Amino acid sequence: MAFVDLHLHSRFSDGTYAPEELAAQARRYGLAAIALTDHDSVEGCPRTAQACEALGIEFIVGVELTAEQEGNELHILGYCFDMENPRLLTEIARFQAVRQNRICEMVGKLNQLKVPLAAEAVFALANCRAPGRPHVARALVAAGLCRNLDEAFDRFLKKNRPAWVPKFKMSGEKAIELIHQAGGVAVLAHPGLNRTDEIIPVMVEAGIDGLECFHTKHSPATTEIYLELADRFHLLVTGGSDCHGLNKGKPLIGTVKVPYQHVEKLKERAAQIRTDAALRQLIVMRVDS
Ligand SMILES: [Zn+2]
Ligand SMILES: [Zn+2]
Repeated sequence: MAFVDLHLHSRFSDGTYAPEELAAQARRYGLAAIALTDHDSVEGCPRTAQACEALGIEFIVGVELTAEQEGNELHILGYCFDMENPRLLTEIARFQAVRQNRICEMVGKLNQLKVPLAAEAVFALANCRAPGRPHVARALVAAGLCRNLDEAFDRFLKKNRPAWVPKFKMSGEKAIELIHQAGGVAVLAHPGLNRTDEIIPVMVEAGIDGLECFHTKHSPATTEIYLELADRFHLLVTGGSDCHGLNKGKPLIGTVKVPYQHVEKLKERAAQIRTDAALRQLIVMRVDS
């Protein structure tokens, strides 16, 4: 049986692997297909696609967008969209600017707390357009201001800690619409990590296509619950490791077993979304003429 990993991060967001390293790891663990799902970035996709092609691994374009619905932070995964879709790229650039401003605000708060970290140090370490809290934490450790990442989060960066800054988030509905208009499939990421399952019917109403049932932080029992919910709401099933690089000396990639059949269904749905969009375009043109 062939397996896939549809949730991976690279250096283009808060992962530590370069696209080529990610592809090499996928090869090492015998994966048939992978998707790159960086936070608010699609920049790593072309290089990962190229590296995968060289190794005979199928590559699926992806992204992980941060959204908010009824006070809950949600992550919405997009798959199989047009990487050059102008509206998607404009919105992503806006989210990246929000992230960069947030880094400056967090560093400002740290400086007020007499923690001498420079924003430039965080940006240099992040070396990407979508920096986030993990980069601030790594910079604090690198500068010897915290012993480890846990301390950085516990003392300063966790929600409601002194250097935490709230982040602007679009609604879940908007994230889904943004992915759909780019011809992609929208999936609710790691529902087991959200505070509530009541959000699932709301997202179904908003047009979500799938549920990430398989995830590193889902127990077998949790996975079963979401497989049942996906079935009940007629949603696609996806899954992945959410690998950000080395984790306690080992990468997570390949540790979540997602059968290849789910990729087939994902691609079918993407084709359907594009056909529907083309039909709608045709109808609009007929009405106009
Ligand atoms: Zn996530
Ligand atoms: Zn993720």
